[in-house]
Amino acid sequence: RRHAAATLSIRSEISYVMIKPDGVQRGLVGEIIGRFERKGFKLVALKLFQCPKQVSGGVAVGGGVCCNCLDIAEEHYKDLSSKPFFGALVEYILSGPVVCMVWEGAGVVKSARKLIGATNPLEAEPGTIRGDLAVQARGRQPAWLCPLKWPLVGRNVVHGSDSAENGERETALWFGKDALVSWEPALAPWLIESN
Ligand code: UDP
Ligand code: MG
Repeated sequence: RRHAAATLSIRSEISYVMIKPDGVQRGLVGEIIGRFERKGFKLVALKLFQCPKQVSGGVAVGGGVCCNCLDIAEEHYKDLSSKPFFGALVEYILSGPVVCMVWEGAGVVKSARKLIGATNPLEAEPGTIRGDLAVQARGRQPAWLCPLKWPLVGRNVVHGSDSAENGERETALWFGKDALVSWEPALAPWLIESN
């Protein structure tokens, strides 16, 4: 399910990058988009998305979360569905507006992961998004400390696909097919040498 290749260049890979609710709430949208932009990748899709609340007879149902969004979030993180933090993770990702983006370019998947940094912000290198902008370690909190919220899901501000395949899969999931914009950045010759 590949989107139409930019006519002048060979179709390269895409990464689905999402600013998580904590990144949006903390006003980091411009900062995070700016880092990908300055790196030189091509933005091919972008939207602010909030899961609509599901209300029946004036009463919030299913925790107020719309089923379709729940399906999307669960599908997005399906590889982690057996983890003890899965439910909390899905809840976190639907807890507020998120910014969904698709970036394109040769090697974008690996490079975006490097820009984003390690999953645990405390281990993420300075210079990375998580290393510079987040503190909370993922992992478990002793049950006696926080019995209801155990285990904790860390706040790490951004998601990036971990493979080209997942870049395609996650893009289709959050944007549907044919949502990508095919364009030729005017700066392309200054970023990528071609003959
Ligand atoms: N996560 C968590 N606890 C863990 C591992 C992961 O809360 O022990 C959350 C965290 O928000 C992470 C997301 O689950 O970003 C997806 O986990 P993954 O291992 O795929 O990390 P990522 O690809 O985001 O670096
Ligand atoms: Mg991951």
